[in-house]
Amino acid sequence: MTPVTIFAGQTVALFGLGGSGLATALALKEGGARVIACDDNPAKVAEAEGKGITTGDLRRQDWAQFAALVLSPGVPLTHPEPHWSATLAREAGVEIIGDIELFCRERAKIAPKAPLIAITGTNGKSTTTALIAHMLREAGHDVQMGGNIGTAILSLQPPSDDRVHVIECSSFQIDLAPSLAPTIGVQLNVSPDHLDRHGTMENYAAIKERLVARSGRAVIGVDDEWSRSIAEACSAKGVPVTPISTKELTVPGYLAAGTAVLQVTSSGRAQIADLSGIHSLRGEHNAQNAAAAIAVAVAMGVPEAEIQSSLKSFPGLPHRMEEVGRIGSTLFINDSKATNADSTEKALKSFDNILWILGGKPKEGGIASLRPYFAKIKKAYLIGAASDEFAATLGSDVPYVHARTLDRAVEEAASEAAGIGAPTVVLLSPACASYDQFPNYEVRGNHFRELVKALPGINPTIGA
Ligand code: ADP
Repeated sequence: MTPVTIFAGQTVALFGLGGSGLATALALKEGGARVIACDDNPAKVAEAEGKGITTGDLRRQDWAQFAALVLSPGVPLTHPEPHWSATLAREAGVEIIGDIELFCRERAKIAPKAPLIAITGTNGKSTTTALIAHMLREAGHDVQMGGNIGTAILSLQPPSDDRVHVIECSSFQIDLAPSLAPTIGVQLNVSPDHLDRHGTMENYAAIKERLVARSGRAVIGVDDEWSRSIAEACSAKGVPVTPISTKELTVPGYLAAGTAVLQVTSSGRAQIADLSGIHSLRGEHNAQNAAAAIAVAVAMGVPEAEIQSSLKSFPGLPHRMEEVGRIGSTLFINDSKATNADSTEKALKSFDNILWILGGKPKEGGIASLRPYFAKIKKAYLIGAASDEFAATLGSDVPYVHARTLDRAVEEAASEAAGIGAPTVVLLSPACASYDQFPNYEVRGNHFRELVKALPGINPTIGA
């Protein structure tokens, strides 16, 4: 835990007692603050009380007593409308911050030079965060990884000069962290997302910019226009920028060209890593993630030879184009995290001869945007509530079956693959939320992995 001492002796209001909220309340208490915590969910309140946290209805408190309101990132700060606790705080002139801000202020107080690497972007945050943490660990650093991925930031070990914090930040977390000034900031990409919570693209991109604008070095993906302007704004402010691209780069930075990652300098370009054969980093999107991680590793002084070997040993994250097994030349891929068509597109781009398992709770727009990849699909196996809608989109372009359940889809796709006799990929990439048949994408992906492992003749992927 990182005890938060900056509010010692003061009273802090806290709303939102999910995983990070509870960790924050404990860290504040440990650091000597009085905390009054609140949540709409009585079970969360009871859990906090069980851990010795004082709770109370913040609507009935005298807000003059509060030094700050610590808000959970899941609670609306501005859109669609501010949460009542945010309104009460604003009316009382009480600042509103999140757990990352508490960490940053504590770091400024106890170890201002402690290396802090913060990662954001619309897509690829978790993969890039995990890859950076892995590369730095392999290079012998004491690494603490958390934030939006896995462990709440204040549950990690405290910052110190010989320990690196690698922190994934969502836009909501950045919005609540005005003094975030990482040693290295990574901004991967910006595309429309969460606009219900951020209002406009301009506002959303401005929040992403804040993560890199005050960094010691900004690693920025420059393949979309929003991110290009973020890079320009950082340069104009004098922040050193390392651009990364999967398309073209005419200034020094890192260019992913197919599976090669090139270091571009003023004197030319040289290959620094080769992603071919690295199963955890298939596809152009992962080349962008790898290029960003390599840029960070180089800035942190990781020698070139160790960069290649640590990329090779990266196990990848579950449910993101995760290879779970093989039978002969048939590959089984769990991409259960792909809950929308954009994510599924990344998988369809990355493979050929696909037996595609898809469906679940449909999202607006369906799978029409995936039409350019239909020629890669040998057969589709429809599951869940979206089946009829998706069948209509596939029409006569792609043969499909109404498998209804994941169990039947895996069984039928495996037997189809056995008859094809050429390299084939059985791909679970649902392009849908899971909620109709599974509680979340993890349970869906784990079930797929178990079904694949039980297939006759399967050669399960080690670690999957
Ligand atoms: P995040 O943490 O931002 O949600 P993840 O690393 O968990 O990102 O990846 C989630 C999904 O986003 C992946 O399954 C893939 O479809 C897509 N994705 C990953 N990296 C990128 C990238 N660099 N650009 C675009 N899409 C990506």
